[in-house]
Amino acid sequence: MSEHDFDIAIVGGGLVGASLALALAPHWRVALLERSPAPQPSHAEQDWDNRVYAISPGSQHFLRRIGGWPPVRPGWIRKMDVRGDGGGALGFDALDLAVDALAATVENRSLQASLWQALAGQVSILCPAQLQSVQFAGDAVSLQLADGVTVRARLAVAADGAQSWLREQAGIAFQRQPYQQRGVVANFHCERPHGDIARQWFRADGILAYLPLPGNRISIVWSTDDAQAEALLALSPAELAAKVAAAGGHALGALDVITPAAVFPLALGRAERVWAPRLALIGDAAHTIHPLAGQGVNLGFGDASVLADILNQAIGRDPGDAALLARYARSRAEDVLRMQTVCDGLQKLFSPQRPKLGLLRNLGLNLVDHAGPLKRLLMQQAFR
Ligand SMILES: Cc1cc2nc3c(=O)[nH]c(=O)nc-3n(C[C@H](O)[C@H](O)[C@H](O)COP(=O)(O)OP(=O)(O)OC[C@H]3O[C@@H](n4cnc5c(N)ncnc54)[C@H](O)[C@@H]3O)c2cc1C
Repeated sequence: MSEHDFDIAIVGGGLVGASLALALAPHWRVALLERSPAPQPSHAEQDWDNRVYAISPGSQHFLRRIGGWPPVRPGWIRKMDVRGDGGGALGFDALDLAVDALAATVENRSLQASLWQALAGQVSILCPAQLQSVQFAGDAVSLQLADGVTVRARLAVAADGAQSWLREQAGIAFQRQPYQQRGVVANFHCERPHGDIARQWFRADGILAYLPLPGNRISIVWSTDDAQAEALLALSPAELAAKVAAAGGHALGALDVITPAAVFPLALGRAERVWAPRLALIGDAAHTIHPLAGQGVNLGFGDASVLADILNQAIGRDPGDAALLARYARSRAEDVLRMQTVCDGLQKLFSPQRPKLGLLRNLGLNLVDHAGPLKRLLMQQAFR
């Protein structure tokens, strides 16, 4: 039995939890508890993580500020080409915003490894940690691990993902509305250069996105109904590559699978509240959204950045002070609600179950494409 005291204990060392730990490390005694083994970066030519994210300029700025950017082999999105299911088209170009790129593409594993590397020696990492129980008391929270260690802190942060154990232990309800869709992800080598263009098709059978990776490589997310997701997973690599190439109109010529397909359930999710006495929720533990705009992890970095700023301005105070946590909740509410509403609205507008909206949605894409100021406003919001 051993006991360790900290100011802040973060449960979950994924991208969001690790970024918060790094942002807090200069000012607080921080423990990071992660149940999986430490992430290992991979530089191997054929070894690409199939969880690839579009990281917004705002998130890149936050990560650079805390010393966690850049990861190895990032890719860049300099243009976006969005196609509707009935002739609608919408294009975005970094040049219109006078920026170099609209977003970066990174592998989950390589960004996580770069954050963990930066954390070394700055915070106490308990990994792999098997949490057994938690007690919230008036002035502290105690986390008991299976190996007999107790971690005591004045604030606990749940960064343990959509199925958050800590959120559940605290009795915070999570409203989850499944989309009856799953996200199929895989990486491919492409015959023709992608030109740093992210491509997205709103199709009758779901939403297909090609994200550019370095070299002639792309990562895809195909959000589609459960039956088609199962069917895609059952295909041989050659059949999958042919199907994905055809669904994208052979825009990049023939495709070859680099990383086999994996599948994720998709749901709109929201915790009833993002704080409770001595507890804050961040990242997917607090909210989940449809991946069509590639904003899930960016919302999580927004949580980490805001919570870190609030706590780092309160050095010397109790980090579990309810007034600080309530300020965090207020500061994030609007951004999270807006992003959830936009993504949910787009998903419903382009849902295959709503064929009657076909004309309207394609007209809408074309109208936005030709409406200079509106398009600019949209770009400023989407690529912040
Ligand atoms: C198909 C798909 C595509 C996506 N594409 C994008 C995209 O392009 N851009 C984007 O911004 N977002 C995207 N997202 C969303 C993104 O995956 C999530 O928003 C992001 O991973 C959330 O990060 P997180 O750190 O909050 O949670 P997670 O990544 O889930 O990390 C949680 C961590 O907590 C650990 N953990 C869990 N339970 C415990 C426990 N009991 N004790 C200790 N540790 C624990 C886990 O091992 C993990 O390391 C996509 C999602 C899906 C499903």
